[in-house]
Amino acid sequence: EAEVALVGRSNVGKSTLMRELTGHKFDTGGNPGVTRQPNHYDWTAEDFVITDLPGFGFMSGVDEDHREQIKTDIVHYLEEYADNVLVAILVVDGKSVIDIIDRHSGPDEVPYDVEMFHFLRDLEVPVVVAVNKMDKVDDKDERLNELCDRLGLYPPWKQWQETIAPITAKKGRIEPLNEAVREHLHEQQRDDL
Ligand code: GDP
Repeated sequence: EAEVALVGRSNVGKSTLMRELTGHKFDTGGNPGVTRQPNHYDWTAEDFVITDLPGFGFMSGVDEDHREQIKTDIVHYLEEYADNVLVAILVVDGKSVIDIIDRHSGPDEVPYDVEMFHFLRDLEVPVVVAVNKMDKVDDKDERLNELCDRLGLYPPWKQWQETIAPITAKKGRIEPLNEAVREHLHEQQRDDL
């Protein structure tokens, strides 16, 4: 069955978003690193499964080796199933994503979110970046333009509405994400004709 894969750092709101998309209850907050294996769920609005991949990055109680292992497992999963993945949703925290990217950028360091974005593109998996927690962001356009810049997409972000989807998962405001995902699905159906 065709799938949509969800990836993102811990605490960006992946579980909250999953709950919105699927209607399932997920363990949100307080217990980062719970999702260790890919989990499959039905997307209620569409006819495919959503695969929730483990969160990565800092997790209290999870040591460095284990974090690296989680990261490797995610990469292997995506490589193996790339043909089956219609769209990947990379969830980021709109409030902190620029700071985190800039803190981890350097001569021999690529920030995870940026790395994942390009990795998925190299696999030819269309990526939608779900920029979550937009309720906490004051200057929305500026933030989204900065994110485009960091991802190598030429601003303004409004040109990239198939790729950049500002959302507030906690309040169920995820329409830009649904729209972006639908666009990709329809594009692929057109390509298949
Ligand atoms: P996960 O680790 O990525 O699965 O993140 P969770 O879904 O557990 O969410 C982490 C924290 O972010 C929780 O305290 C959520 O309530 C909060 N959160 C999730 N989505 C939003 C949002 O849209 N806005 C705000 N302000 N907080 C959110």
